[in-house]
Amino acid sequence: KCIVHWFKTDLRASDNSALSAASQAAKDSSLPLITVYLFSAKDLKAHRVSKARIDFILRSLSSLRQTLAELHIPLCVEWVDEKLPVSTRLLDLCKEWQATEIWANMEYEVDELRRDTKLIRSFAEKRIKFNVLHDTCVVQPGSVATKEGKQYSVFTPWFRAWSEFVSGHHKSLQSRPSLHANTDNEVLKYWDDLFEQKMPDIPSHHKLEVTDADRLSGLWPAGEAAANHTLETFIKNKLRQYKNTRDFPFVNGTSHISVHLAAGTLSARSAVRAALEVTPTLTDAWIREVAWRDFYRHVLAHWPYVCMNKPFKLRIADIEWEYNDEHFRAWTQGRTGYPIVDAAMRELLSTGYMPNRCRMIVASFLAKHLMLDWKMGENWFMEHLIDGDFSSNNGGWGFCASAGVDAQPYFRILNPLLQSEKFDPDGIYIRKWVPELANCTSKQVHAPHSRGFSNTHEYPEPIVDHKVARERALARYKLAS
Ligand code: FAD
Repeated sequence: KCIVHWFKTDLRASDNSALSAASQAAKDSSLPLITVYLFSAKDLKAHRVSKARIDFILRSLSSLRQTLAELHIPLCVEWVDEKLPVSTRLLDLCKEWQATEIWANMEYEVDELRRDTKLIRSFAEKRIKFNVLHDTCVVQPGSVATKEGKQYSVFTPWFRAWSEFVSGHHKSLQSRPSLHANTDNEVLKYWDDLFEQKMPDIPSHHKLEVTDADRLSGLWPAGEAAANHTLETFIKNKLRQYKNTRDFPFVNGTSHISVHLAAGTLSARSAVRAALEVTPTLTDAWIREVAWRDFYRHVLAHWPYVCMNKPFKLRIADIEWEYNDEHFRAWTQGRTGYPIVDAAMRELLSTGYMPNRCRMIVASFLAKHLMLDWKMGENWFMEHLIDGDFSSNNGGWGFCASAGVDAQPYFRILNPLLQSEKFDPDGIYIRKWVPELANCTSKQVHAPHSRGFSNTHEYPEPIVDHKVARERALARYKLAS
């Protein structure tokens, strides 16, 4: 017999609600705790999980397995047969292991909620108790509401309520109790042999090229220790300047913890706790950003239709989009002729990451300058981001395309030239990612073709004219608003 913890997007041993509770339950019942992570090729495809993210998850699992091994807690990792749903395999494994209880943290996306609701019933039929806990948000969805008891759809009042809630409920930031070590060595040897202390082979269509894998593992060290190191370094060296530097892509003034929050190698609670050691207030600019992540999760939990291919503002679904494969391809490959857009899209392809300001510029450009359905951009991001996270990505795209909750008004159309001049004045970021423009002057680099840069043959002309595109977007959005 045993107690099982099922890892999902919570790949850490510390400050993990369900894992901690499972460990306590194991101690109370004198049973071993064993843990499991299941890859489903079908789910990865359905959720457009990027290869970079799969690789990051695998590397995080490797490090998690070592951490857990020190506590004699085995971790089973499996690729589930493409024809089977994860839930079927999980049920079979728990039956085989004679589990009495299984614990997991909740995911708020519709498919995941449906899966877990069904699992509660199926486990109950097998007399196995399935416990699902809130963990991923600092404040769990449903805890803050307007005076009328409704879900907020505007961030600022929501954030006020969020901060008040956290101040009044100290437990929301408290770290979850540490794990107890498994003790019965003979039983543990049995599990170790069963799981054969190695990672399973990854199906080749999910594998990164070796050079990409090397580059990404250098850029994004995985696992809990790397997450804590990244967080501590940021808090110590950059947090105080964050407010002034965060929007400038060439400064590198942000934390880069999104990849860890997405894989769960770090808890959002730990991030806020660490910041509060340096900044006295919950309304600090950086904590406010971490709270955006909670906000979009609350939105998703309350309005699940945003998960079902529908915009939060349903009327936006009626907008007339362009169908232009050439434009979409130019956008994805960083060949639109707008240097700031191209630099950002090329950074994404190379690193799996893009700074927030650039995400806003390229998203607005796709939806408003190119009038291409923002869902195509949302999907492309998921397929390439190493920190791809459904609710933050969907929320960010909805915001920029004026289709989401608390979105930009439709007539706010970011001007890529002005954004470029304001946030990358000397073109340092552009030159890094668009080497064709390395020899431009600081003025030319933002618009090489119209500002007399002589060596433009390698760099494309702008694929749309800003003024014409702006007028078209205003007219189309007005009709749908
Ligand atoms: P920091 O600036 O250091 O912020 C700290 C943390 O706060 C981030 O790690 C993140 O968890 C959270 N955060 C910051 N800004 C936002 C925001 N606008 N919305 C939600 N959470 C935020 N973030 C993702 O984690 N995954 C995504 O798939 C994603 N897609 C996005 C798509 C678009 C179009 C836009 C505009 C934003 C998107 N974001 C996404 C939000 C944001 O761009 C990233 O979280 C941030 O750039 C990550 O870098 P960082 O960790 O250095 O952030």
